Amino acid sequence: MRTAYKCRAYPTPVQAAVLSRTFGCVRLVWNKTLDERTRRYRNENTRTSYRETDATLTSWRRGEELAFLSEVSCVPLQQTLRHQHMAFQNFFSGRARYPRFRSRTGRQSAHYTRSAFRMRSGSLTLAKTSTPLRFTWSFDDVDVTELDPTMVMVSREPDGRWYVVFAVDVAESAVAHPTNHAIGVDLGLKTFLVTSDGVQVANPRKLAGKARSLARYQRRLARCQRGSNNRRKAKAKVARTHRKVRNARQDFLHRTSTALVRSADMIAIENLNVSGMVRNRRLSHAISDAGWGEFRRQLEYKCERAGRALVVVDRWYPSSKTCSTCGHLLAELTLSARHWSCPGCRTRHDRDLNAAKNILAAGRAVVRARSGDACGADVRRQGSSFPRSAVNQEVRAVRLGA
Ligand SMILES: [Zn+2]
Repeated sequence: MRTAYKCRAYPTPVQAAVLSRTFGCVRLVWNKTLDERTRRYRNENTRTSYRETDATLTSWRRGEELAFLSEVSCVPLQQTLRHQHMAFQNFFSGRARYPRFRSRTGRQSAHYTRSAFRMRSGSLTLAKTSTPLRFTWSFDDVDVTELDPTMVMVSREPDGRWYVVFAVDVAESAVAHPTNHAIGVDLGLKTFLVTSDGVQVANPRKLAGKARSLARYQRRLARCQRGSNNRRKAKAKVARTHRKVRNARQDFLHRTSTALVRSADMIAIENLNVSGMVRNRRLSHAISDAGWGEFRRQLEYKCERAGRALVVVDRWYPSSKTCSTCGHLLAELTLSARHWSCPGCRTRHDRDLNAAKNILAAGRAVVRARSGDACGADVRRQGSSFPRSAVNQEVRAVRLGA
């Protein structure tokens, strides 16, 4: 299995010059090859193979006109040809649009395979540079001095920040310790989530503030005249704020999803129809802010990596209106009602906690149904044997209690 670690990088001026030159060559090779490919495809209806593009690259490096291509490492240039080949395969099979030209104002990147970098005791040296590239390592649970990446990607964002991504092959033995614990998770707008244990995770307030200033900068940008200096400045401000909002949200979602995956062998969540809900205007802003889709994606891959079971419960299951104690189903429960008392067993419920308990029970029912017996004690073993498709399986009308 493959995983990746993304870090901020701080190249020295000399390194930055080498990398910028490499980015330029990568872009040139991509664009020139794409141009050639497009011409052959349109005029002669011929597809170009990776081998052909690689041979052309060699002739460019040997020729006089493009001799500067041999001043940078050959590996990122070949990698970009590989990526373009993949992009064309995806296009021909109808999975993607036609590959596009790369712009010098967009994000720049270069991929280095093992032959083009050296990683020793946590220090990274790239081809054609003589000093290690400085980067910040913020993954406390991974020892950087033990890191043995199969590939390294260096990039520069349009705002001038540098990043390095380490791609690492992870053994399947990365399975986390069993906790003998299962949780149900209710995602909400008021609080981000409530677990069946009663743990509440609030939506980060800072995020709302940042999102408000983003909206303000966007309005200011809309008022600026096209091509003016003020517009350029306003645009940079919007891009910076965007990045801050995005990073803060990602950070929050990662912390939350990691904590959940650590805490339980089986996690049950509701299958929220996020795109359908986003169409509801009144809720839309809060929901796209909440990042439920991204949270679900993180839970999926983190559970798979740690050998945990993620069970997704059908969204039509009335988790809020069903009593988690006796199974009584309320006819109606308004969105504003935070508490309610069960007419069947007189239990007083917190709306979200009750929903989380029901989601857990529904998740357990799914696990039992899948494993074919009533025990379900070793959830972890069953979890790791879950086929991928089972994660997305929806279970309709899970009845609880009487
Ligand atoms: Zn009840």
